[in-house]
Amino acid sequence: MIVELITTGSELLLGRVLNTHSQWIGTRMAEQGMPLSHHVTVPDTAEAICGAVQTALSRSDLVITTGGLGPTSDDITRERIAGLLGTRLVFHPEVEAAIRAFFESRRRPMPEKTRVEAWVPEGATYFLNQHGTAPGLAFDLSPNPFRSGGGRSGLILLPGPPRELHPMFDEQVRPWIGSRWGAAEGFMTKTYKTTGLGESLMEGRLETPLAPLIADGLQVGYCARVGEVDVRFSAAGSTASQLLRAAAEILFREAGEFVFGEGEDSLEQVLVRTLTQRSQSLALAESCTGGHLANRITNVPGASAVLLAGVVSYANASKTALLGVSEALLAEHGAVSEPVARAMAEGVRRVTGADYALSTTGIAGPGGGTEEKPVGTVFIAIAGPHGTTVRKQLNRFDRLTFKYSTAQQAFNQLRLALATASSPGPG
Ligand code: ATP
Ligand code: MG
Repeated sequence: MIVELITTGSELLLGRVLNTHSQWIGTRMAEQGMPLSHHVTVPDTAEAICGAVQTALSRSDLVITTGGLGPTSDDITRERIAGLLGTRLVFHPEVEAAIRAFFESRRRPMPEKTRVEAWVPEGATYFLNQHGTAPGLAFDLSPNPFRSGGGRSGLILLPGPPRELHPMFDEQVRPWIGSRWGAAEGFMTKTYKTTGLGESLMEGRLETPLAPLIADGLQVGYCARVGEVDVRFSAAGSTASQLLRAAAEILFREAGEFVFGEGEDSLEQVLVRTLTQRSQSLALAESCTGGHLANRITNVPGASAVLLAGVVSYANASKTALLGVSEALLAEHGAVSEPVARAMAEGVRRVTGADYALSTTGIAGPGGGTEEKPVGTVFIAIAGPHGTTVRKQLNRFDRLTFKYSTAQQAFNQLRLALATASSPGPG
């Protein structure tokens, strides 16, 4: 199966917008056993878009375009593709009604210009846009006029904004593709999310035990991110599910303590889920991470069932005033120290009454390091029903990566503490 992605938009070529569709759609298609064969980016001109679509259709079973479906003068994809395919545009009142409803739900008048989005090329399937206005469009071209020998090809036009494209793709486009082309025969893939072990150490643990399965057709991929490594297993054919099961057994046997989830799981989701199930609460006291932990926890829907408070106590005086960290302790050990991390976590736990509290205090850099406490030094404390533990880490990165990896370690420390804690009792 040959699949081609065409991302349209001059802003992508000018470097004004990072082209995230190639990664996002590329991952989704690969997971279905239909990896992308080609990907091109073209500017918002009729010649470039039509040329790219025609070339893609001449060699592909499925062509996906993104962008240019909106109502402004630079949005020309719908009209020009209809022209290329020789179909006329037909007005669909039900599409207009959906667009009108979208604006009504936001208490905004519908701009007259958006009516153009209700014109659908004849014969196309449309996907209503739950998070915007322009519908996606799909053509089942049989025969495909641009491929020698005809044959059948799909052409899918999707809106540019990621928050519109993502749900449309998962909820409507995937089923449309699946019902026509199916997944590759018996193709299966599964991704495990791990943290706490670098990718080469992970591979070192797994390569020997996985070798017989790889000989039988298992494919293994490692993808390193900040503070995380994805381990992806895939296989095709009648033994695919057996191979994936055997590979997962080896992963859990060799490195199970590092596995925190699957697919798109994040550590913060896992924490919110686990604490919710246990009816336990969380509070945060952050210095060097400046609210990054609180930001990530509150990105998870349902965080309010778990998070009581997050205090960003950046200055020493606020550590004392808000968390009750004693001035003497700060003077004796310094703000970046094991005792202060401990006192911050215990302080925010006492003030909020949370079951668990996390604290961070460290030196993000680039300045401020000493011989004894170099840039990147960070103390992470967890206070919980079973006492307080503190760990020292060295995260020598730029400031944003420092915050991210410190949060990964803090969340993972709490995940492990929750896993080992005996079932929650009173207090
Ligand atoms: P609109 O109705 O918003 O105009 P559209 O379907 O016409 O939608 P575009 O105009 O191409 O889409 O893009 C709208 C916005 O979506 C862009 O400004 C950009 O921020 C984002 N976007 C488009 N393509 C991509 C991409 N490949 N990767 C990331 N973001 C993108
Ligand atoms: Mg646009």
